[in-house]
Amino acid sequence: MKVMLITLPKEGQTKDFTTPSFYSSNPVRYIPLGILAVATSISPDHDIRILDADSYGLSIDYTVRRINEFAPDVLGISAVTRKAFAMSKILKRANVSLKVVGGPHVTHYAKETINLGADATFKHDSDRNFNEWLNTGCKRGIYEDYIRNIDSLPFIRREFSGFELEDYMLSGEDTQKTLFKQKSLRRLAMMSSKGCPFRCVFCDVQDKEFRFLSPQRVVDEMEHLLSCGANSIHILDDCFNTDSNRVIKVCEEIKKRGLKFQWSCRGRAVLDRTTAEALQSAGCVRMHVGIESLNPEVLKWMNKRITVETTGEFCDLCNEYGIEIVAYFVLGAPMETREYREKLPDMIRELKIKYPFFNILYPSANTKYYRELMANGTYKMDYWQAFAEKPVPNFEIPLPRSEELQDELEKTAERCIKIFFNGG
Ligand code: SF4
Repeated sequence: MKVMLITLPKEGQTKDFTTPSFYSSNPVRYIPLGILAVATSISPDHDIRILDADSYGLSIDYTVRRINEFAPDVLGISAVTRKAFAMSKILKRANVSLKVVGGPHVTHYAKETINLGADATFKHDSDRNFNEWLNTGCKRGIYEDYIRNIDSLPFIRREFSGFELEDYMLSGEDTQKTLFKQKSLRRLAMMSSKGCPFRCVFCDVQDKEFRFLSPQRVVDEMEHLLSCGANSIHILDDCFNTDSNRVIKVCEEIKKRGLKFQWSCRGRAVLDRTTAEALQSAGCVRMHVGIESLNPEVLKWMNKRITVETTGEFCDLCNEYGIEIVAYFVLGAPMETREYREKLPDMIRELKIKYPFFNILYPSANTKYYRELMANGTYKMDYWQAFAEKPVPNFEIPLPRSEELQDELEKTAERCIKIFFNGG
């Protein structure tokens, strides 16, 4: 069978008021590991084609044209809620007899997606049951699988028709101006775990169980990426350092194999000296962490399960061991004050954070924050549910705060960006 797996175009995606345009002007192209993992699991006698419409900035029209040109027997779409409009258009317009959807969107909106024209949906993990479905009659329905031992899954292949690994090597020119400046850098992303056991109120990571690859598997994959020409690796986990023992074992394995390369990871702003030492000696040069706030009350409300003190210890250790900090801050928690926002740049400077990023608190679908806004009457209806049932282009959820406050938050974010990135 001819099988095409796609990510969705950005065209018509929901508008949010969370991210200042400064950060989106120079997007990083991340390898679509979700569809590659599914493609890896499909029996090789199928003819597989990958189309990463998201990373290449394809329009909906052009994506539909490419699908219809290839004329697959099965179209597999990886969907996130913010792109439900593009998904609905493609489901309607792609001339394919079997259209299926997986990805975070269908974990919550499987029935709604079937009603929009999907023949089958795959909740949670599709790595195993999509292939089973292909080989057992492709029946209509909602499928669900959750793979606890992800170490049992095959190594993700990165060579498929229509897939150019070279395009995902992030060199100095095509990434954030202020980050990763070295021209000689060839950076690829990988996952070493899935999910995050924490429950921050605004976070839409739905997988609450931390599932991980063994340290040997992690370093096997690193070696593979190095053999593909990368000299830098970014671990794109939801929370890489959930378990310090595992982090230390990954570092030991890198050193045992004598691998010399620089790498970075996404995780939590929590660190002890032993782990910091292990990270530094194994080549970790940067950690991307959600610090979110430097106000104890806000951190508590966010359910971050970190404190201002532990954040301080994290920053001190990173600075001592030469690990750069990329820190994400969220502005606009209900109890946050103007006074705090005024002081924030100084507090960040004191912590010697080199790359702070500023977002505005946003009620993503299926987050505790969004549910709270419905429960306390700020939202009179379930906007995300209505959007999932009938996606419209450029959907914008109503502001959960006054326009004046929103304006002040946006100005604060701009002021902070100017201070840290434009020498202002
Ligand atoms: S630690 Fe990060 S990934 Fe985990 S729930 Fe909080 S924001 Fe989400």
